[in-house]
Amino acid sequence: MCLTIRRSELYFTLYKIMKGDCNHILVLLGPPGSGKGTQAELLAQKMGFVHYSTGEVFREEMRKKTPLGMKVAEFVSRGDLVPDEVVIAVVEKFVKDNSQNPIVFDGFPRTIPQAQGLDEILIKNQLKLTLVVLIDLRDEEVVLRLSSRRQCRACGKIYNLTFSPPKKNGTCDECGGELYQRQDDKEETVRERLEVYKNQTRPLIDYYQKKKILRRIDGALGRERVFEILSTLVTRPNPE
Ligand SMILES: [Zn+2]
Repeated sequence: MCLTIRRSELYFTLYKIMKGDCNHILVLLGPPGSGKGTQAELLAQKMGFVHYSTGEVFREEMRKKTPLGMKVAEFVSRGDLVPDEVVIAVVEKFVKDNSQNPIVFDGFPRTIPQAQGLDEILIKNQLKLTLVVLIDLRDEEVVLRLSSRRQCRACGKIYNLTFSPPKKNGTCDECGGELYQRQDDKEETVRERLEVYKNQTRPLIDYYQKKKILRRIDGALGRERVFEILSTLVTRPNPE
């Protein structure tokens, strides 16, 4: 696809970037269990970011029965993957609605066409992707974190036998319900999810590395330390 940009728009974008008041647009990458959703939430709470979470934005569009939401529902109800052009259209609407705020993308992009789509949407809105952060975690750590998750059958609260165990084995602290392991969190399923993630993400890592906007944080450092590093990177996206 050929992208045209008016010269006046280009100068305006350059001017904003040079003045340093260009909005931060941030992409978080990381395996399941890396805590990138939590980090995106923290950026929203503490630094005024708008959090784009693919799942949540999809659910919101479907709930409001917008034309885009209906389209998404078509695929979701059949259990099919939502195609790139629909995902990109949803993101385009989101960026337009939130172009005055810093945005953190979590769970998007997942493919190269989506990454290219994002670049084009940002240019059209006189914005720029300032930083991509990979919250990295070793395979064994991912398996450990996810396979020790337990959920309450009654109230849905999530526990982690390693990091946040219930007071009484197998029983929910809040409501006394029975704790169980979701199919998604069984070791075999976790290993499959991890393979899917790697195959999807490897090309994205290359894509953003070439653009020299990729930074890595070791997810094993834990939630507080990861956020400290992340917020430093956000305040100074190009430390060199
Ligand atoms: Zn419960």
